[in-house]
Amino acid sequence: MHVVMAAAEAIPFAKTGGLADVCGTLPLKLAEQGHRCSIFIPAYKRALECGLPMVDTHISFVVDMVGRPMAARILKTTLGNGSVDVYLVDQPLYFDRDQLYGDYRGDYRDNCERFCFFSRCVVEAIERLRLPVDIIHCHDWQAGLIPAYHKTNFRDFQWYRNAASVMTIHNLAYQGRYWQHDMGLTAMDWQYFNWQQMEFYGDLNLLKTGIAFSDYVTTVSPSYAMEIQTPAFGCGLDGTLRVRGNRISGIVNGVDYDVWDPRNDIHLAQRYSVDNWQAGKARNKSDLQRLVGLPERADVPLIGLIGRLAEQKGWDLVKPLLEQTVDSIDAQWVILGNGEQRFANALSELARRRPDRVALRLEFSDPLAHKIEAGSDMFLMPSRYEPCGLNQLYSLRYGTVPIVHATGGLIDTVNNLNEASLATGTATGFSFQNYDFESLKECVQRGIDTYSREPKVWATLVVKGMTQDWSWTNSASAYESAYRRARELAAIEGRL
Ligand code: ADP
Repeated sequence: MHVVMAAAEAIPFAKTGGLADVCGTLPLKLAEQGHRCSIFIPAYKRALECGLPMVDTHISFVVDMVGRPMAARILKTTLGNGSVDVYLVDQPLYFDRDQLYGDYRGDYRDNCERFCFFSRCVVEAIERLRLPVDIIHCHDWQAGLIPAYHKTNFRDFQWYRNAASVMTIHNLAYQGRYWQHDMGLTAMDWQYFNWQQMEFYGDLNLLKTGIAFSDYVTTVSPSYAMEIQTPAFGCGLDGTLRVRGNRISGIVNGVDYDVWDPRNDIHLAQRYSVDNWQAGKARNKSDLQRLVGLPERADVPLIGLIGRLAEQKGWDLVKPLLEQTVDSIDAQWVILGNGEQRFANALSELARRRPDRVALRLEFSDPLAHKIEAGSDMFLMPSRYEPCGLNQLYSLRYGTVPIVHATGGLIDTVNNLNEASLATGTATGFSFQNYDFESLKECVQRGIDTYSREPKVWATLVVKGMTQDWSWTNSASAYESAYRRARELAAIEGRL
């Protein structure tokens, strides 16, 4: 199969979250499994500066953006020693910026226009590059128009007439919702601006467009695939999703163990494996404590947190938890994140008040993320909702016991310690059901108590987590099945 992906992020070109990890890694795994894979991303400034050699494909064309002719140039590089082709859509006016989606003033005001342009260019470029496509795999709202183009305006394009489309939702909360006058930017006919396709409470909705027009929909964990079909998690699109319920499945993101494995992690003070985790983690713990300015104590439980400072990630519960327990509970906290100012301010205040217990880094730092995973005893991830989540998967491999809210991908990947899971040796962490302060506090306390008083139980949690396999191999096979299903469904409809 030739799978062509379109996404707004992919490592090592541009990353703000898990989307980039998936889009940079899944193509490599598909290629390893014998498929041809190409990916399209915008030629952001940071993508062009990522260090990989870029060549000009000499494919360039003009896209009409509501009367404004905008030129596009297609650049190319490769990943995985040439196994994956990467095409970059270059238009400096849209993409030569310091950030991907916005700056301190908020989202860029032309985001709708930027990604309508990107989607149009992907479709045009496939045709001009003469890429014979079997699957067009679109990620998140930024690529949501492509399944629509494939079934409408551009359905006769020769090179992907025989393709089926797959839409992957990485986070349903981000929908690309814009006022209806932006419909012009999509170049789609107004007949599609209806409640079953592109319209959403009077606005244009690009993710809904992708869901409605694609042949198959995936999201990033089985539990999240179920949750988003309910009003509580559906962000207003649960009805649209329920209609397509027999065409939706969840596939947990894989971990790139070339990068995230304590046996070969270049960022660690000492590498370790399941055979010497106690010594390895002890050394990394003292290294981390020294690095972030916490007292170097082996006995105190060290709890790590990494992630966007957004309400989704549970900071509205973490904030009162720390405020109420930082004095009374003898624990250390290492926090790495950037995002909303209100959380940054509250956490900064805590770190100022108790520098012996709270270390805070308000930045994006990959090396520090690795050191926190290795040096912490526990990893706290109390997300309000979590499509998949990657850090809990890294934590499992690093012997850093995850404490999570039982939601979405966290349900599917962390097995709560209780009598039954202890008896069967399947426990890997701690989880709480109700998203409230008391439940979180009780769960964290359980984690700390087990760590402090039951070293044997702790060791079984660590070892079970470290020996699990959350690599891309299984996930890539699941995507292969989804692609086959998409093609079957398109064939049933007589389109292939
Ligand atoms: P999301 O995509 O919702 O932000 P995920 O857990 O799926 O959350 O993926 C987040 C990815 O970004 C992980 O690889 C995580 O380590 C990384 N990350 C998030 N914030 C930071 C940060 N401040 N510094 C370093 N890495 C971060």
